[in-house]
Amino acid sequence: MTKVALVTGGTRGIGAAICKALKEAGYKVAASYAGNDEAAAKFKAETGVSVYKWDVGDYESCVAGIAKVEAELGPVDVLVNNAGITRDGMFHKMTRDQWDAVINTNLNSLFNMTRPVWEGMRARKFGRVICISSINGQKGQMGQVNYSAAKAGDIGFVKALAQEGARAGITVNAICPGYIATEMVKAIDPAVIEKSILPHIPVGRLGEPEEIARAVVFLAGPDAGFITGSTLSANGGQYMA
Ligand code: NDP
Repeated sequence: MTKVALVTGGTRGIGAAICKALKEAGYKVAASYAGNDEAAAKFKAETGVSVYKWDVGDYESCVAGIAKVEAELGPVDVLVNNAGITRDGMFHKMTRDQWDAVINTNLNSLFNMTRPVWEGMRARKFGRVICISSINGQKGQMGQVNYSAAKAGDIGFVKALAQEGARAGITVNAICPGYIATEMVKAIDPAVIEKSILPHIPVGRLGEPEEIARAVVFLAGPDAGFITGSTLSANGGQYMA
């Protein structure tokens, strides 16, 4: 039977590439997003992927959103926790709002999204949970204490949950992208990218969203059944964890 994949933040950037790659690989795909209706409508028209709006930081909204996806497409076999934001600032200037927004969207969302699909995956004895963490969760990044903490938390979540899911046929893995050419990164001053970022990337370029998407398709597929609890670095050699 055709498997169902749900990708949070699937309408733009890395998530959009993941949705397209999963669709090409034969999955029924649902993409969630936060509020950019225009981007979501454009993405839906271009790809035929079903789009759903809810805040991954709100547990009740996730429960209701997932119920709608499952009623329309079927039980979720593959969950990609991709939605994420940045609210950067040096710690001595960081506000509690900046901290809360990033922890809620980038870390609490993993509970909010995974908990409602977990029992179904256990009952069906199959599941794939793939969390998009970050190089900055592995190495820490100044100006991103909130983001680094959340993304490091994602890795701990994956390692613990992988142990719980293993006997039930569920794998749980993290992918840690380095700098990928999406709107999140294009918002950085090009001069900063040229002078301060590219010199630290041994391959000498930013990554492409499709390069993360292909890793997700592999981890979601039947050939990756023995890979669980792992952290896959995809960063052009910038950090070798
Ligand atoms: P983008 O900013 O391009 O896209 C973010 C997506 O997440 C959008 O679809 C957005 O919806 C959605 N989203 C944001 N907040 C919420 C929310 N509260 N509820 C539901 N959906 C939400 O991000 P990227 O593609 O660059 O990043 C994707 C993931 O990869 C993130 O977790 C990021 O931290 C991680 N990452 C990115 C790197 C990069 O270089 N780009 C490097 C390392 C990790 P909407 O369109 O409605 O706003």
